[in-house]
Amino acid sequence: MTAPFERVSILGAGTMGHGIAHVCAAAGIQTVLYDIDLATVEAGLDRIRADLDKGVSLEKLTAEERDRTLGRIRLSSELAYTLQDTPLVIEAAPESVETKLNLFRLVEQRVGEDTIFATNTSSLSISRLASDLGSPERFVGMHFFNPVHIMKLVEVVTGDQTSEETTRLAVEFARSIGKEPIVVKDSPGFASSRLGIVLGLEAIRMVEAGVASPTDIDKAMMLGYRHPMGPLKLTDLVGLDIRLDIAEYLHRTLESEAFRPPNLLKRMVAEGKLGKKTGEGFYRWDKE
Ligand code: NAD
Repeated sequence: MTAPFERVSILGAGTMGHGIAHVCAAAGIQTVLYDIDLATVEAGLDRIRADLDKGVSLEKLTAEERDRTLGRIRLSSELAYTLQDTPLVIEAAPESVETKLNLFRLVEQRVGEDTIFATNTSSLSISRLASDLGSPERFVGMHFFNPVHIMKLVEVVTGDQTSEETTRLAVEFARSIGKEPIVVKDSPGFASSRLGIVLGLEAIRMVEAGVASPTDIDKAMMLGYRHPMGPLKLTDLVGLDIRLDIAEYLHRTLESEAFRPPNLLKRMVAEGKLGKKTGEGFYRWDKE
């Protein structure tokens, strides 16, 4: 499908930013990848190169395609250069309201009247992040998933003032880079975290009550509901501490008992059993 934009500027070259730059460039879009210093952007490019090399070794793409993708990425640690004539900005800076508000204030001063502003926030309110802008109708959430070059979903999150045209362009752009967009109204946990967390928390309550073992609970969802992975293994991969933070946030903001963090989850986090990253969660993991 034809891309609505031929160029894009990605702010932040970390876990998400490098992945977003990768998929944009692979789809033929001229991509500027920005971070606070050149060493960090270069580290982002190294990660893209490593992911592409892996793709070549698995014969998912050719060496020529890898080189063409890399050739479409320019690196920058200067905001003015990054934003020159850009029609679309996708921000993937740290998850802090202040950082994102400051960054978008600077961005708005440096772009044209038609530029679309997108944020990859996983939890912050889109309406709040747009509240300082002169043109909040051009602001939208584009929530990608990690690892970006593999995960198909993009949640297009609309704030109170996001215009229909901005939403349409974000949806079209996501499709043009090979993603499957869904449109979600700005609300805590958007669609994916809100549903996914409920399943994960209920699975933990079932372990707590001795209903079944973690392996059997995961099997119930995989074999009975065709989930590619059970909710407890997924919790181990994401990190129990991260899931606890999200559960506490959703419990507070949505005021629903469905999100009350189970005692078992709190205890495991206090004991340092955070899942794969610490070697133990609901499963034992060999240290890599
Ligand atoms: P990260 O820490 O890996 O990367 C953030 C990058 O932003 C770093 O390279 C940092 O140097 C850079 N940065 C710091 N200040 C900046 C500024 N003022 N301008 C531009 N760049 C700046 O973080 P991440 O995991 O890539 O997360 C980025 C965003 O994506 C967050 O909002 C996060 O909630 C969201 N997100 C993360 C995931 C995930 O699984 N990691 C998934 C979906 C969404």
